Amino acid sequence: MKIYNTMSRKKEEFIPLEKGKVGLYTCGPTVYSVAHLGNLRAYIFDDILKRALLYNGFKVKHVMNITDVGHLTSDGDSGDDKIEKGATKENLTVWEIAHKYTEIFKEDIEKLNIVPPSIWCKATDHIKEQIALVQKLIDKGYTYETKDGIYFDTSKLSDYGKLARLDKEGLEAGKRVDLGEKKHPTDFALWKFSPKDKKRQMEWDAFGHKGFPGWHIECSAMSMKYLGETFDIHCGGVDHIPIHHTNEIAQAEAATGKTFVNYWMHNEFLVVPSGKMAKSEGNIADIVSLEKKGFSPLDYRYFCLLTHYRKQLMFSMEALEAAKNALSKLRNKIKQVMEEDKEGESGDKYEKEFSDAINDDLNIPKALGILWDMLNDEKVGSDDKITLVMEFDKVLGLDLDKVDEIDSETIEGVTVLWTGKIPQDVLNLAVLREKVRKEKKWKESDELREKIKEEGYSVKDTKEGPYLKKI
Ligand code: AMP
Ligand code: ZN
Repeated sequence: MKIYNTMSRKKEEFIPLEKGKVGLYTCGPTVYSVAHLGNLRAYIFDDILKRALLYNGFKVKHVMNITDVGHLTSDGDSGDDKIEKGATKENLTVWEIAHKYTEIFKEDIEKLNIVPPSIWCKATDHIKEQIALVQKLIDKGYTYETKDGIYFDTSKLSDYGKLARLDKEGLEAGKRVDLGEKKHPTDFALWKFSPKDKKRQMEWDAFGHKGFPGWHIECSAMSMKYLGETFDIHCGGVDHIPIHHTNEIAQAEAATGKTFVNYWMHNEFLVVPSGKMAKSEGNIADIVSLEKKGFSPLDYRYFCLLTHYRKQLMFSMEALEAAKNALSKLRNKIKQVMEEDKEGESGDKYEKEFSDAINDDLNIPKALGILWDMLNDEKVGSDDKITLVMEFDKVLGLDLDKVDEIDSETIEGVTVLWTGKIPQDVLNLAVLREKVRKEKKWKESDELREKIKEEGYSVKDTKEGPYLKKI
């Protein structure tokens, strides 16, 4: 399998540290508002990568963090903490706001058929590990203290900036910004001291002050805790290359003296005609707003799959509408093949072509073309075609097995949807779960999901209501 490594700027053969196993880390969401479609493009890319690794027979240990402290309104070290600011805006505590948007994020990714990570980790649950890592950097002489925090001295690391190929001398010569007490423009905060004039809701005692971690330290600390000091693949959007990932590398490699990550993979941006889609630009759309306009989350997933992850993707309602129509055509075609029951040749050659496409740095647009070619090939038998569709869908994640009629019934005010046959007690469990979910009783709702799973069914939350399917 070949993947593009941002570090070498080349497609490379993927060789894991341990045969047959992959350690994968994804920078997760900052939970102060809903994820916009751009953020979700990043997680769809990540999901395709993971599914492609699984398709190739690897066991994947996937870790995703939840940033619930320390991400300031600039990606640098200035501005307010996004979580504290979001909490004030919504009149909630920081813990409530983080919980609220974590739950919404988990619902969003489920609607998009994104396989959840093996391990979710919250920054606030790993303060001890972050303090220990900062202490290690202090002990090794990589830091200095200013009035507002402990900073990493980037001049102490000879290959600082290697991922982004930063021109350190250029940056140094062109210092225009007011550095304050920072020694170099690229130096960054490992630990920030709480401001004297403001009481923060989240703060911890460390290094002789009340304070909170810098944004980058959480990812270095948690990825190494769960995946080891060197691991296989680290993902994120391209905006993370020059600052966040550059600083993750600096912290980890200065502390351990080892290579932090072997393969760095980055998705390009989802853009709108006026530029990038970003919360700060006010031009965002999210999954719920698309659902309100009559799109399903999988229409958006299909829209993303039509463009290679390393190319920018221009968002428009027209393009999304075209993707929705194409996905509907694909489902109809599969349904037609299911019904025709024609004898014919095997479709092995398409299986090989499909796997070559995904193994060429996740060429999903090409893989979708191969799926269409296979379905349109008159020589291939219907059973073989359907077997291949199901096989390919392990990577595509478009629910291509769900072309059957969807049944629905409203029970006690809750509309439940399903395909195939579902026992009455499972339907009742889904109704109960929907009720507790509406009351935001997340723990009970999770327990009921588990119960439904134990009965052999999955439940997905759709705009119309819970949707049940045999696992
Ligand atoms: P954040 O919640 O801001 O930390 O971002 C979550 C993920 O979304 C990160 O991997 C970002 O790089 C990625 N991201 C942010 N904006 C976009 C965008 N417009 N298109 C694609 N990815 C994005
Ligand atoms: Zn990160």
